[in-house]
Amino acid sequence: TRSPEESHEAWEQCKDAGRKLPEYKVVVLGASGVGKSALTIQMTHHCFVKEHDPTVQDSYWKEVALDNGGYILNVLDTAGQDILRALRDQCLAAGDGVLGVFALDDPSSLDQLQQIWSSCSQHQKQRLPLVLVGNKCDLVTSGDADTATAILARKWRVPFVKTSAKTRQGVEEAFALIVHEIQRAQEAVTE
Ligand code: GDP
Ligand code: MG
Repeated sequence: TRSPEESHEAWEQCKDAGRKLPEYKVVVLGASGVGKSALTIQMTHHCFVKEHDPTVQDSYWKEVALDNGGYILNVLDTAGQDILRALRDQCLAAGDGVLGVFALDDPSSLDQLQQIWSSCSQHQKQRLPLVLVGNKCDLVTSGDADTATAILARKWRVPFVKTSAKTRQGVEEAFALIVHEIQRAQEAVTE
């Protein structure tokens, strides 16, 4: 695995070589404390942070290698506070797709995500591709949350994945899924 510095270097080299990798901007949305920052940092920096400033909003990028030459992943971590709603709307406008995150050990965070997403969708000209992410799966044994989530995922017609930012379980899969959804949406437009 590459360190962020090494990735950055590789990325610069790609740019220098004139290779144009597709770039996907993923916005991470959800209530406060569900693990948006932890997921973002686990994906981009391969580590788990126990404490993270709840208000910070930052953009990380990561180069991801695929068989077909790879792509550049841009991850935008958002803050859940209502004050920042205007900022969140700006982020969505810049994003290609959304990871909608809630915490499996906190059912209310699923309700909050629904509220956040429906308030976002009102402002979107076109619905962004979405993947539903149930985080903190290391803290639960499964059960009720799964059923509720499955119902919601069906209602929204989006993929659902369980993750742990702590153990990295499902983390790469979640990002791969949203990239796949973005690619599908883009193909649908060009067809
Ligand atoms: P955010 O407000 O959505 O950005 O949430 P944070 O990423 O700051 O995480 C909130 C708290 O939950 C922190 O103490 C994290 O260490 C913890 N946390 C985040 N993801 C996980 C996870 O998958 N498993 C466990 N056990 N804790 C997590
Ligand atoms: Mg955060």
